[in-house]
Amino acid sequence: MLDGTTRSGQSGSDGTGPITIFGPDFPFAFDDWLEHPSGLGSVPPESLGQEVAVVGAGISGLVAAYELMKLGLRPVLYEASQLGGRLRSQEFEGAAGIVAELGGMRFPVSSTSFYHYVDLLGLRTEPFPNPLTPASGSTVIDIEGTTHYAEQLSDLPALFREVAAAWAHALDDRASFTRIQDAIRSRDVATLKALWNELVPLWDDRTFYDFVATSEAFSSLSFHHREVFGQVGFGTGGWDSDFPNSMLEILRVVMTECDENQRLVVGGVEQVPRGLWHHAPERIVHWPQGTSLASLHSGAPRAGVARLSREPDGTIAVTDTWGDVRRYPAVLTTCQSWLLTTQIECDESLFSQKLWMALDRTRYMQSSKTFVMVDRPFWKDKDPATGRDVMSMTLTDRLTRGTYLFDNGDDKPGVICLTYSWMSDAMKMLPESVDRRVRLSLDSLRKIYPDVDIAGHIIGDPITVSWEADRYFLGAFKGALPGHYRYNQRMYAHFCQDEMPVEHRGIFLAGDDVSWTPAWVEGAVQTSLNAVWGVLHHFGGTTFPENPGPGDVFSAIGPIELAD
Ligand SMILES: Cc1cc2nc3c(=O)[nH]c(=O)nc-3n(C[C@H](O)[C@H](O)[C@H](O)COP(=O)(O)OP(=O)(O)OC[C@H]3O[C@@H](n4cnc5c(N)ncnc54)[C@H](O)[C@@H]3O)c2cc1C
Repeated sequence: MLDGTTRSGQSGSDGTGPITIFGPDFPFAFDDWLEHPSGLGSVPPESLGQEVAVVGAGISGLVAAYELMKLGLRPVLYEASQLGGRLRSQEFEGAAGIVAELGGMRFPVSSTSFYHYVDLLGLRTEPFPNPLTPASGSTVIDIEGTTHYAEQLSDLPALFREVAAAWAHALDDRASFTRIQDAIRSRDVATLKALWNELVPLWDDRTFYDFVATSEAFSSLSFHHREVFGQVGFGTGGWDSDFPNSMLEILRVVMTECDENQRLVVGGVEQVPRGLWHHAPERIVHWPQGTSLASLHSGAPRAGVARLSREPDGTIAVTDTWGDVRRYPAVLTTCQSWLLTTQIECDESLFSQKLWMALDRTRYMQSSKTFVMVDRPFWKDKDPATGRDVMSMTLTDRLTRGTYLFDNGDDKPGVICLTYSWMSDAMKMLPESVDRRVRLSLDSLRKIYPDVDIAGHIIGDPITVSWEADRYFLGAFKGALPGHYRYNQRMYAHFCQDEMPVEHRGIFLAGDDVSWTPAWVEGAVQTSLNAVWGVLHHFGGTTFPENPGPGDVFSAIGPIELAD
């Protein structure tokens, strides 16, 4: 079906299927495309073995390279930093398998294309210890000096339930929330497009804070309700950092349940990109059985890219940091788009000026995390006076904002993410050393847990990250501002190149900041699959009629364009 209205497997049209990251901007069933027995498509015999440069070996670069290899092309990966990119699991020194998840760490089950690869690699997942979930056991919410202990929402004072109810009310009242979720469940493309396309011009210009503050549901409550909402958020906590973002971005997150039912990858999510690097697919065209990305690259990706330029014969020259120049009929860039102006010297003529505007106006959010390893999951010890856990997953308005507890088993070291913060809170940590970040975090937590000696449990060296301080990222992930819809649309739609002037074709974009759901890995994977279709098409290949790809249905169900 070319209109993308049916899908196999998970749901029927009765609205009882699961919520998945299906649209809302581009409701194409990426999961079905991936799972279809026919495969993604085929390239003409003369293109088999042809090289495609892939800039960046994060998840989007690796997914694209893996799928292009299966189609019989020869992906050539370039990586300036570490394989895996922002799916980075750093092992604590001397503690095999005990990791700090520095980038992505909690993966909503609605990320069905991402889980396609998790399952392919046979990786084990577990519920993520989010606030107020059984996986965390207990949660402490500390706001304006008052501390609440809870195992579920109903344990908290009525004010918290009023906040949750106001949020649900505001979403239905102003954003057709339930109707859109019903359309996602039944994969009813026509209804989903009709409802979502109405919201795009209404909310592109307005912030998340505006949505909350001017809603009927919240305006009848106190200012403090808004503060609590910003603190506790909807599921994962700390959402006041997103208050300046475009409301459309927040709507996508909640409608597709990015903020719910999240799991972690046991042993670290970096196993996904690394697994794809080593995996020899069962079905592969042109290459001998047993071929993997690692074997095609003699073990390691090429170095970082320093220059991208158009050659007189139309190919694109890729120059690496050592000056090696190779020419390719197609190039896919997956690094953050700002790096196309800071890291990589790009011929300006590779993209239109409208696209450059979009690439450069993209806005990144800052984020910092600091982890320590502890001798055991001591937080489960009971306070003899109260019978409660001595320490809990903690949300606070203090410096640490979110503290997460990772239980690796009673006989193994535990891991505490002392602080996970964004934007202003991350900037407060930016100039500090890892030791000082730990001290500042412990000082904060001591005010909440005066009787718990966290420092006495720390073993090994702490680990920290500030993504904005890393020249290969310049920020954690995109956070679109009001008025950014047009920029997102230009970047997202760029993989369909038939209408473009010839001089702009052959270079493709994918990754977190091209996606509609930045900060969620599923968006990086879906844009990567768009790019696979774009490259396939560029080489004269086609999809199979029974399994159309994203570019085949894009003109019918792609994201709407707003006038410039
Ligand atoms: C702090 C944080 C928390 C997150 N939390 C979650 C979460 O809980 N759940 C979730 O689903 N997602 C989460 N995400 C988002 C998820 O991690 C990203 O969407 C995904 O990892 C992005 O993958 P990518 O391939 O698009 O980009 P990247 O991983 O950035 O890959 C791009 C690669 O390009 C490389 N590169 C840069 N410059 C060059 C150059 N000149 N030449 C060659 N290579 C270059 C980089 O080193 C990098 O490896 C989080 C991200 C961060 C940072």
